[in-house]
Amino acid sequence: MTLAKDLFKKIDGYRDFIIDLQTQMTACPAITPHEEGGLGESAKAEVLLKALKAMKFDEIKVIDIKDPKSPTGVRPNIIAKYYGENRQKTLWVMAHMDIVPPGDLSLWKTDPYKVVVKGDKIYGRGVEDNQQGLVSGLLVAKAMMESGVRPPVNYALLLISDEETGSQYGIAPIMKKYGKLFGKEDTFLVPDSGNPAGDMVEIAEKNMLWLKITTTGKQTHASTPNNGNNAFVASSHLIVALRELYKKFPKKDRLFGDVPYSVFEPTKKEANVPNVNTIPGSDVFYLDSRVLPCYTNEEVLKEIGKIVKTIEKKFKVSIKVDVLINEKSKPTDKKSDIVKLVAQSVKAVYRNNPSAQGVGGGTVASFLRNAGYPAVVYSKLDETMHQPNENSSIKNTMGDAKVFTLVALNLK
Ligand SMILES: [Zn+2]
Repeated sequence: MTLAKDLFKKIDGYRDFIIDLQTQMTACPAITPHEEGGLGESAKAEVLLKALKAMKFDEIKVIDIKDPKSPTGVRPNIIAKYYGENRQKTLWVMAHMDIVPPGDLSLWKTDPYKVVVKGDKIYGRGVEDNQQGLVSGLLVAKAMMESGVRPPVNYALLLISDEETGSQYGIAPIMKKYGKLFGKEDTFLVPDSGNPAGDMVEIAEKNMLWLKITTTGKQTHASTPNNGNNAFVASSHLIVALRELYKKFPKKDRLFGDVPYSVFEPTKKEANVPNVNTIPGSDVFYLDSRVLPCYTNEEVLKEIGKIVKTIEKKFKVSIKVDVLINEKSKPTDKKSDIVKLVAQSVKAVYRNNPSAQGVGGGTVASFLRNAGYPAVVYSKLDETMHQPNENSSIKNTMGDAKVFTLVALNLK
């Protein structure tokens, strides 16, 4: 434990470093270039590369994913590796560089891109999501390097682009085209979600299934329903019939806490006819399903297909189901070393009672889990991300760095 204690002491001395790096990163607004005025991650990546190059990493690599919309033509992704005694295996900390826009500026008390520090809190867009996690991951390497400590396995940072808007210029193409960068035994920590108690060790998520459902009947005047076919009525019956999904897929998994079952909820409803005296010939609504990993989305789609058929027959309409999102997610084994190690480390640092949990989906960890890697999402967060006056706790940044240090020292 004395080795860990020495590293903890180092980390406790990094307050100025944390503030400085947070300030520099926040000044480079890494908003997706697919949004009006978004500049992408390139400037922020430069700031980070400079910081990483000033440290003793053994390998630093940039993977540029082409994106014609980005002012630089690319979306950068950075890998920085510090060798361990066994170089065949790597503990990765994955964090994202992109941020969401600040939203209504009148709700901000300070400039979102100029960091303000008040006691333990740093204010600015991106400071919590995901710069806090990024800095925590970096501090672990800094402390080990400055103390001349080599961990049992490699310790590496994977700093990605495009997490907020679908990962198509970040972890998705990296896993697809650069899979060789990762060893079979590699393990991932993703400090991008958490709660104020710091007791949530996230290891699973539900499968996401978003559908657009269009019902087509025949438009007519409201006074002569016999001349048409009311799509809204058929669609309403369909919505009610889809409640059967709850009975068809009833399993529960306590890992998912307050909502231990699959959910199938009608959500968005598109406007149909603009006037009261027209019977709509078309009706569109959306279904948001989050399915426990013990089921597949295909099973759900099959069941929905059956329900759709009965409604089509009964109401003589045609119904089209468009799949908008279909993402499966393999859970990380609750009994895997990394899950146990993170829980132990959290307990040792924060003296709380952490537990493995699942979330409603979908996080960026699913790309890693689906590629076959164990991935644990952990951080201690006040959950101000995406909000005005987003802020990050320096204490939590250091605390999480200590958690990751313990994991790095003990993962074999
Ligand atoms: Zn995030």
